[in-house]
Amino acid sequence: MTTQKRPALRVAVVGAGPAGLYAVGQLLDQVDVDVDVDVLERLPTPHGLVRAGVAPDHPLKKRVIDNMFEFYLDHPRVRFFGNVELGDRVVPADLALWYDAVIYAVGASDDRKLGIPGEDLVGSYAAREFVAWYNGHPDFSDRQFDLSSERAVIVGTGNVALDVARILTCDLEVLRQTEIADYALDTLSRSKIKEVLILARRSHMQGAFNNPELEELGESSTVAVELRNATLTPEQQCLEQQLDWIDRRKVATLKKLQQRQLENPEKRIVFQFLTSPERILGDERVAGVSLQSNRLVGDSPDTLAIEGTGETTEVATGLVFRSIGYRGNALADLPFYDSTGTIPNALGRVLQHNEILPGVYVTGWIKRGPSGVIGSNKKCARETTSCLLEDLAAGRLKGDVLSPVAVEAELRQRCKALVTQSDWHRIDSAERLAGTAQSRPRVKFTDRASLLLAAGVPE
Ligand code: NAP
Repeated sequence: MTTQKRPALRVAVVGAGPAGLYAVGQLLDQVDVDVDVDVLERLPTPHGLVRAGVAPDHPLKKRVIDNMFEFYLDHPRVRFFGNVELGDRVVPADLALWYDAVIYAVGASDDRKLGIPGEDLVGSYAAREFVAWYNGHPDFSDRQFDLSSERAVIVGTGNVALDVARILTCDLEVLRQTEIADYALDTLSRSKIKEVLILARRSHMQGAFNNPELEELGESSTVAVELRNATLTPEQQCLEQQLDWIDRRKVATLKKLQQRQLENPEKRIVFQFLTSPERILGDERVAGVSLQSNRLVGDSPDTLAIEGTGETTEVATGLVFRSIGYRGNALADLPFYDSTGTIPNALGRVLQHNEILPGVYVTGWIKRGPSGVIGSNKKCARETTSCLLEDLAAGRLKGDVLSPVAVEAELRQRCKALVTQSDWHRIDSAERLAGTAQSRPRVKFTDRASLLLAAGVPE
């Protein structure tokens, strides 16, 4: 007896970053059902944070992941439609009519706020903006960052904080060989920054960075690393031994970094633990930060907490980056938890008033919040696509959809300057070609007009 395959399942994935593209990969892996996937993306380019988030001095990581994502996007069952912004001409209700299922993988495009006075002064920025700027993100390429201060302050100890600290102190000759935006290279070449002060509200045993990213700071022979407030009281000494191996390793790396002997370091990265910013000082622009000291309380790694000592100090700076995490934004007509910046869901099935919205799914940071490394999105996507396929098998997906041709016609009619996969290939080739001439992986187009021009798509 022969079993008949159902007509291809038609899925839209909204967002062409790691979360969305891992979901595409999982759908393509299905053997029991053919899946046609359309990937809709608001930028003219795919790859999301791999293009505009991963630091330019991590070319190998970029290349490996880019290659995998291109393999998915080039698959004959996958179509890429860039420059499609959801919310105006195309809304979630349209996608619900056009496809059997829609997976929202829109990431976290905003950032958390400190909520302290002075946060909005000129010179105080989200690290997210700076990262997008040096990576040539078209929405951020017109930003200006004044690096004329000798000290930059970063609040938070996550991997983004380390990326920013590394880029601010990196040898220009190293950066010149990367795909960093040319205007960022130019600004960095005029930088006066000698010290990057990283503020950690908790102790040196509670850094949010990962060990490989921390170890990388030791690769520079011109940037020293200094630790402040990393000495425990005699009663607390045993705490370091009680840490799990991940945290113990990070503490060991911190100490190793501090012990390195560098001859005449040009710059330094200072980790100041147990310190919270209390106010950003300045009239119109940042002139300094008022800091509050914290003390560590608790007698085991699981019960450690901080409390303010009441002691305050001030540090002079003209540049503050808050690097305290990203935050998701609401999408028109879809439910949203404002407190977490995520779309409410059960294992990836979107919930509205605690009821499952049939055929609507989420994956990545908009599903679970801004945590984990790029690879974490693979497991997350597997959970979501498993739910989707379970729903298909159980007959919970509606089945009447628009044909691929009709969907493309709708998109072309509604969206000016639609960018397809072959258009993106033109951008990609032009960037790589420009890069080859300068011995760099690529030279990016950093504004929409030049991206569309390179794509051969009239605006
Ligand atoms: P993160 O890892 O969540 O770190 C946030 C940091 O901000 C923590 O140190 C946190 O301190 C601190 N913080 C939060 N609220 C604060 C406040 N009100 N005052 C002072 N400090 C505050 O965020 P992220 O660095 O933006 O990274 C986001 C995700 O991207 C992470 O999962 C990260 O691993 C990932 N990422 C990975 C890479 C990589 O793999 N190379 C690169 C970049 C980003 P507490 O710990 O005390 O809460």
